[in-house]
Amino acid sequence: MGFFSTLGEIFTILKHVFSQVFERPFTVLYPYEDREHPERTRGRHIHIREKCTACAQCVRACPVVAIRIDKSDRKYEKDAALYFDYTRCIFCGLCVQACRFNALFHTKVVDLSEPERERLHYDPERIETLDRDPLEWRGSRFR
Ligand code: SF4
Ligand code: SF4
Repeated sequence: MGFFSTLGEIFTILKHVFSQVFERPFTVLYPYEDREHPERTRGRHIHIREKCTACAQCVRACPVVAIRIDKSDRKYEKDAALYFDYTRCIFCGLCVQACRFNALFHTKVVDLSEPERERLHYDPERIETLDRDPLEWRGSRFR
C-alpha cells in the first residue's frame, strides 16, 4: 500500500468523522427521553370497555393464552373484563385484529419492565387506561 493511498484513506476517515460532528446524534437519552414510535407500534394494549361485546374473539385468537375474559364482570350492557398476562404475550397483534368492535388496541408503550413479575399481570382496570405517563414513570424510577 503506497503512501498516497494510505493518506487518501486517512483523509476519507477524517472527512467522515468531521461530517458526523455536525449531525444530530442517532441516540437519545433513554430513559429520560424517548423516540417517537411508529404509528403501527404494537405496544401494551388498551381495552375500550364501552365498545366491547364480550365475544371473546380476542381470547380465541391469542396463540399463547395471554388473555383471560371474565364475562360476569360487566360495566356496560354487553362488555366483559379482560386480564392480560404480559409474561406470555408476544405482541403478535392477533387479538387486536380479531376484535371486530374496535374495543382493543395496541398503544405505543413498549417498555413494560417491572421490578416484580406479578406486576406484568394486568387487571381490567389497568388495561382500560394508560396507567402512567411512560416518561414520568421512567424518570421517577431511574433518577
Ligand atoms: S398480542 Fe398476540 S400474544 Fe399478545 S395478547 Fe394479543 S394475541 Fe396474545
Ligand atoms: S375486546 Fe373485542 S374481541 Fe375481545 S371480547 Fe371485547 S369485543 Fe370481543
